[in-house]
Amino acid sequence: MHWPRAIIHVDLDAFYASVEQLRRPELRGRPVIVGSGGEGYRRGVVSAASYEARRYGVHSAMPLGRARRLCPQAVVLPVDFSAYRQASKEVFALARELTPQVEPLSLDEAYLDVTGSIRRMGSPEQMAVGLRDRIASVCHLDASCGVATSKLVAKVASDLEKPRGMVVVPPGQEAAFLAPLPLRRLPGLGPASERALAALGISTLGELASMPQATLRRRLGEHAAISLGERARGIDGSAVTRPERPKSISREETFSADVAARAELQSLLRDCAADVGRQLRHGHWTARTATLKLRYSDFTTLTRQATWPAPQDGDMALAQAAMRLLDDTWDGQPVRLLGMGVSGIVDAAQLDLFDRSAAPRDTRLDHALDSLRDRFGNAAPRRGGAPSLRDLDFRGEDLRRDAEDEDAHG
Ligand SMILES: [Mg+2]
Repeated sequence: MHWPRAIIHVDLDAFYASVEQLRRPELRGRPVIVGSGGEGYRRGVVSAASYEARRYGVHSAMPLGRARRLCPQAVVLPVDFSAYRQASKEVFALARELTPQVEPLSLDEAYLDVTGSIRRMGSPEQMAVGLRDRIASVCHLDASCGVATSKLVAKVASDLEKPRGMVVVPPGQEAAFLAPLPLRRLPGLGPASERALAALGISTLGELASMPQATLRRRLGEHAAISLGERARGIDGSAVTRPERPKSISREETFSADVAARAELQSLLRDCAADVGRQLRHGHWTARTATLKLRYSDFTTLTRQATWPAPQDGDMALAQAAMRLLDDTWDGQPVRLLGMGVSGIVDAAQLDLFDRSAAPRDTRLDHALDSLRDRFGNAAPRRGGAPSLRDLDFRGEDLRRDAEDEDAHG
């Protein structure tokens, strides 16, 4: 089967409630409602409901008071975005194993353009099934996938067989797939349009698709008539777009008590470099320039930069550069704040993304450590042993120094 474009829409099932059930095993199998916005949850609304609670008619956006009456035995919990963000990052990292073209829509939904991965990774359906399995085995979360030639049809498909759904719409079948569905299945078709169309006797997307343009134009106006008519046939050329590449990524820490021990400063720089490196690799970026930021007890602040001959994304390369800059900069006085960052960020070469077995050992180790940190957070192992500067291997890549002082105060 030839896929001119292959898009997967992945959507986690009852995401917030599932994260809560995951970290509180006593809640598994029980109705759970995650609510927001009200003191004592009395005036709030339902942000998410587990499938056990949905059986009682509870759904998101419902007032919490009503949800509690429908399902009095439900456990109601407040929204904990930091926990959901962490889980979301882990899921999106799995999505990026298939393609760098991942467009998150929210914490629990993303589009993947896997057209370029078919030759290496198998059919779009195989990729979607694999992703759903990986999300289950690695993150212990359920997800539903829709696979189609457009974002629009993939999104409609992922929603049809929740939970753990897998709906594939083969190329050419888009209009036939949508035709029997009710109007409200079409993203972007609001209640006002639905009422206007109902007045014309239209209740399915197929009926909408076969309605003459002129009739639709009279009822809905020019613009809506064209876009709805096309969308009802599954026509949507919009591209999957990755989030914008940042100009710089940095990490710095203020010590609780000022530090003048070199080993301690180096250790902090290694941690900062690991964090910055991980963010780079997550975004499939590399960086040309490393920056060190150092603030003394008297608030004198210095920054130093160095540019690599070739862009880097490895923890070791980042840490080495930061430590070299520290050696050039630090006069031995107590340090209040220290950190490192990168700028000149560019997209990583495709080769590095897909052919990790051909990547240098260091790169493979970084990716392995990333997966562990994704799963275990700070409890994950780190690179051991402070590489002393004497032992550093720059592989002939001497740093060109763009030293630049900045006297900031406060
Ligand atoms: Mg969802």
